Amino acid sequence: MEPDNAQLVVSITNKATLEQAWYNEARTHKPQTFKADATALVDPTDGGRKCDFCNWRTLTAEDAWGRFERRHAVTGSNLFKYGEPAHGLVLFKHHDPLAFSREQLDDFLGVSADWFAAAAAAHPDAAHPFFIWNCGPRAGASQFHGHGQLMLTTLAVPAQARLTQQAEQHALAHPGTSLYHDLVHSHAAVGLARLVVRGADRCWLLAHLAPQKDMEVVLLGSALTSPAFVAALHASLRALVDGLGVQTFNCGILNVPLGTQAAAEAANGLVANGFSELEAAPALEAAGGLGPDREPAQQGSDGGGAGLELPPLDLSWRPMMARVVSRGKITSPASDFGCLEVIGHASIGHTDPFLLIRMIDEQLGAAEV
Ligand SMILES: [Zn+2]
Repeated sequence: MEPDNAQLVVSITNKATLEQAWYNEARTHKPQTFKADATALVDPTDGGRKCDFCNWRTLTAEDAWGRFERRHAVTGSNLFKYGEPAHGLVLFKHHDPLAFSREQLDDFLGVSADWFAAAAAAHPDAAHPFFIWNCGPRAGASQFHGHGQLMLTTLAVPAQARLTQQAEQHALAHPGTSLYHDLVHSHAAVGLARLVVRGADRCWLLAHLAPQKDMEVVLLGSALTSPAFVAALHASLRALVDGLGVQTFNCGILNVPLGTQAAAEAANGLVANGFSELEAAPALEAAGGLGPDREPAQQGSDGGGAGLELPPLDLSWRPMMARVVSRGKITSPASDFGCLEVIGHASIGHTDPFLLIRMIDEQLGAAEV
């Protein structure tokens, strides 16, 4: 082949979880023979006038324990359940699924946390929470209006069961580290990890090297009500929607803590780590370099950077893990899930994760102004 006809393919595999992505920038120019007319997310509800979720008081069900309501969001019960024994719904109070502020997201996650606590109290035998947010029909949503689903089940979903198993196996195979520490360190080594700080609260954010689908962001936080987590998730989603033109996405959250806020903080190493006694840290730190945990990062050949401030290794760290992915072009009728994904469990990486992290940096920077 002529040199200018060559294609660079980069394959990345997570050796702990076996997740795998194949990058080929040339594929983004691949001709698409299936055409659709829609150029944007189509609202079938006449701008909300025919939207069940805009009329949530009368057209959605409520759980046995009622609803949780805040200024911008409210919970309901899912009318078509598959999660057993509890399957709920969380709604933004506004209609447009792509327009949400940090305050609106804060309430969306806040009432979700309240719902999980009530569901856990009502069903003490069900120990497996899962948070689902599908935006747009391509991502699996059946309603235009921004909403998520809340599940508390007696059986863990496979992704949750695998994550728990992989974390245990990793700790046994590699004493002195954890799957989560290594995930952050490996991304920090190539400049794809960020630490978001709000007071004593922390969230680690990764532009995933082995994404499940395009533009995956992985967030490791303490709880749905964690200010650092809400800020990091908001910046990530705004980066996708506003910076990269995404109109359809999935956001799933694993390891959702069911205990009290204090238990969640302990799980994130905040209490044992004495973070609350530290001086206020800068609100945003780019963890571009590797340093010993809790020590200032050393200036390495990659340019160094601020410390990652990960919980100490002797603490059992089980952070809440959110995963956000783009579900491709709204204008393409061709699915972004083919045999490679459904059967092979690998994925094609369309978007350079270094571009993704730059877009997130812009959002995080704007949030500080
Ligand atoms: Zn609506």
